[in-house]
Formats: sequence, structure tokens, C-alpha cells
Amino acid sequence: MRLRPEALQDRFESRGLIETLYWASTGLLAAAMVGAGIQELRHAPELVEETRRLGYPEHLLTMLGFAKLAGAPFLVIQKVPRLKEWVYAGFSFDFAGAIFSHTVVGDTLIQTLPAILCASFLAVSYGCHRARGPVIARAKGAGGAPDGRPPSGVEPGARLSFLYRVDAEDRIRFVSAEWLEFARENAAPDLVRDAVVGRSLWEFVAGGEAQHLYRLLFESARRGQGTIRIPFRCDSPTIRRFMELTIDPAPDETLDLCGSILREEPRPRVALLDPSSPRGDEFVLICSWCKRIRVAPDVWDEAEQAIRTLGLFGATVLPGLSHGICDTCEATIDAEIAG
Ligand SMILES: [Zn+2]
Repeated sequence: MRLRPEALQDRFESRGLIETLYWASTGLLAAAMVGAGIQELRHAPELVEETRRLGYPEHLLTMLGFAKLAGAPFLVIQKVPRLKEWVYAGFSFDFAGAIFSHTVVGDTLIQTLPAILCASFLAVSYGCHRARGPVIARAKGAGGAPDGRPPSGVEPGARLSFLYRVDAEDRIRFVSAEWLEFARENAAPDLVRDAVVGRSLWEFVAGGEAQHLYRLLFESARRGQGTIRIPFRCDSPTIRRFMELTIDPAPDETLDLCGSILREEPRPRVALLDPSSPRGDEFVLICSWCKRIRVAPDVWDEAEQAIRTLGLFGATVLPGLSHGICDTCEATIDAEIAG
């Protein structure tokens, strides 16, 4: 079951409904599985009779009960996406088998209804699970919230600002309108969606060190570490923008990347950060992650401070910006990769 990229944007907008449906169906299904699993494991007399009537040996109850209790938690746990897929598959075999068995022995619709209901909850839960791929509420450790609120750790009022998806080869498969807006504002005024989709993400990540760290983060997300969340800055010449990136593994080694704005601070225009400012032959190093500028070995300052320290205040020709990563950001990213 693969999402069409165009469908992602619509789903991005209707995520509140999807979250509600997801948690309602998944909660009911998990509760039903725990209840049924306990009854099966203790060989409740009515279940033993029912199992025999359907033509199965009694020990089937032990197997099914154990499988249900083992699988149910993974319906609600968000950190192990691959195992979750297996659990959905296992339960669908269970329900399909039950519906088939009831049909074979000529049971009425009422007798088959519990299995049909479970299969319906499973279908809704799985559909929503797939649709909510890029939703921020799936972030690490938070488990998500029924109303689509950002997870704990993200300041209240944080908003989703962009998302994009890359395939197993890191080619861009989808970008949201907001991503394009960011890209235009930050460096590439003429960028359109058709010119982006299908290209390698690495064409859009400035700086070898930043690319390297992104690659490590991607590797880590694909290895099954689950959703990765990491703070970063996406400043413009007139706005300090504090953001958080979530990297969410999806099937087939695709990754959904979502940037959310935690807060914004307006600031007087910083010419050094404006791509249209005239540049000389000199270069200063800017951290791709936190947008601080290196003023001395191991000393990184906010752009305004760096301009004063480097004596660039009022300069007509500014140094170019070369992208790197400061020690603080490197340590943060390394810690995230290490899990
Ligand atoms: Zn930094």
C-alpha cells in the first residue's frame, strides 16, 4: 500500500481527522486483542466449544492468545514501524481466517460479526497509520496525541512548516508547498516543484559536513532507530527561526522529513545572511545547523555578534559564506545518531 505523493499534501491538511480515527480504531482494536488474548490463553469454556465447533484443536487457543497479547502493544507503540507492519499482517491473517472458518461452517452474520468488526478496525487503523506518516505527532517517545497536537518537548504553538519525502536513494519524491517557499526565501527564488522532484536531496544541502551528518541521520533512521528529532535553525536575513527536524522512516527505506517552527524572532536585516549582498574573495564559515558564524577557532557567534567581532559592520563588500558544522551541533547530532 503506497501513498501517492500528491495525496500527502491533502493528508497533511486533514491530519487532525486522521489522528482521531487512528487512535480511536487502534485503541479499540488493541483493547479487543488484549481481552480476547486473555480469554484464549485461559481456555474460556465458551471459546473451547466454539473452537471445536469450527473444527480446530483446543491448543489453537493458546497460540492465538499468545500471538494477540504479544502483538497488541505494537499497535500503539510508535517506535518500531517495521514490527508494527508485521503485527498488522498477523492480525489480518487471524481475522481473515476467523471470517473464513465461520463462513465454511455456515454461521450467521451475527456469529461472524466480532471477526468482521475487528477486521474493520484493523483496516481503518492501518489506513490511518499509513496516511499519518509525516505527521509530527509520531515523533520519538511522544506516541502522538489524538488531536494532532505536537508531541511533548515541542513548545505549544509549534507549527508544521514543511515536509518532504526522499526515497531509498535520497531522491526527492515529494515536497510540500511550504518547503518550496522556504527554499525560495533562502536561496533559490525560481524553484518550482517539478524542478525538485526526482533530484537528489544532496543538491540542496549546502556543505560537505552537513551532508555527511544528514547521511548519518538517514542511515540511523533507516536502521530502525525510529523517528529522529533534532533542533536546527532556518534563519532568513530578517528572522531568526528556531526549528525542529523530524526524520520519520517509512516503508521501502523512504524517509519523511518534517520541519516545524518552534519560534521566530524578527531582527534587523543582516546583510551577511542575504544571498543578494555583494561578496568579496574572503569566506567565513557558517554552521549549517545553528547558523552561527565562526569568529575564531572553536568560537561561533550569532550573526549580529560575529559581524561586530569580525569588523564587518557597515562593510560594503562582505565575505562569502562557506558551510560547516560547529562542535555543539556536531555533538547534538552524534548523540541523536547514537540513540
Ligand atoms: Zn551549530
